Amino acid sequence: MNILKDSFGRRFSYIRLSISDVCNFKCGYCLPDGYKIDKSDNRTFITKEEIGRLAKALSELGVSKIRLTGGEPTVRKDFLDIIKIIKKNSGIKKTVITTNGYHLDRIADDLNKSGLDGINISIDSLDPKTFRKITGHDRLNEILEGIKKLQKLNFKNIKVNAVLLRGVNDKEEDFKSWANFIKNNQIDFRYIELMQTGDNLDYFNQYHVSANKFTNYLNNNNWVIQTFGKDAGPSKNYINPEYKGKFGVIAPYSKDFCKSCNRLRITAKGDLRLCLFGNTGINIRHLMQRDDQTEELKDLILKQLNYKKESHYLEIGETGLTKNLSTTGG
Ligand code: SAM
Ligand code: SF4
Repeated sequence: MNILKDSFGRRFSYIRLSISDVCNFKCGYCLPDGYKIDKSDNRTFITKEEIGRLAKALSELGVSKIRLTGGEPTVRKDFLDIIKIIKKNSGIKKTVITTNGYHLDRIADDLNKSGLDGINISIDSLDPKTFRKITGHDRLNEILEGIKKLQKLNFKNIKVNAVLLRGVNDKEEDFKSWANFIKNNQIDFRYIELMQTGDNLDYFNQYHVSANKFTNYLNNNNWVIQTFGKDAGPSKNYINPEYKGKFGVIAPYSKDFCKSCNRLRITAKGDLRLCLFGNTGINIRHLMQRDDQTEELKDLILKQLNYKKESHYLEIGETGLTKNLSTTGG
């Protein structure tokens, strides 16, 4: 039974855990100048032993799924060990990752062996030039090869996410190329509406477009909205009998988006964040140091939930502590 519940009746069975702020890409909406060390904060990233203890405490609080994210989670050398530790001892049922997929072709085999339960890969465009324009890297091919390798290994639960950007990847031909991609491919593809963060106001003003642009395409092309289970989260999924894959839309500015929130976030330096945005969040790392601290750690997380607000208030430009999403994992 899930015991993580806030004062608005939402239950939290899902944690997004950032394991590194470091990223090797330069996505225009996130880290346009690449990763820069924050010299005002000399704390190191949480260790795999700390993560093991945290995961156990979370599972005892009813959390069933942990998503490893970043920054880029796979830049950490002990990344596969982290998956294995969570899988082995914690009681967490599903361990998944979000990655930019930059060397997916080389790590597909190890990922498959690690016991990972699912992977979300960020690919903003299937056109190599547009891909490079957005991410600063020419690596689309190795990512697509990596996906093929995972599929050959019979790895299930592959999702692809793209941030919807006005004039860049929001044309009907972009939507059609994704439709082609999922036609005979059991992959879920989702567009995420661009969110404003502390750092990206100019970019946001230039490239933000409502997710309705994609939703209208889906409605006009025989895609039918799928009804959700109780833990479905914020993605609205669409199915079409002629396609093996599904489409999805994550529209953070839509009415009632926060009502289905089922997740909390923990940063790579051990801060609990109750929302992707907002000003609430405290460090909980001091309670990940010894096995006998589990009860205290659970207690602190439970108490913090009382401070979770009803909404992110993004629609009024409130971005809170979030300079960019590389620290909170998107
Ligand atoms: N580096 C990994 C990746 O790119 O998948 C994991 C971290 S990244 C912060 C997680 C997700 O957040 C990615 O899908 C990325 O496209 C998305 N993201 C980053 N900044 C965003 C923004 N301002 N608005 C919407 N999505 C954003
Ligand atoms: Fe890196 Fe992911 Fe941010 Fe792109 S979205 S810069 S890949 S952390």
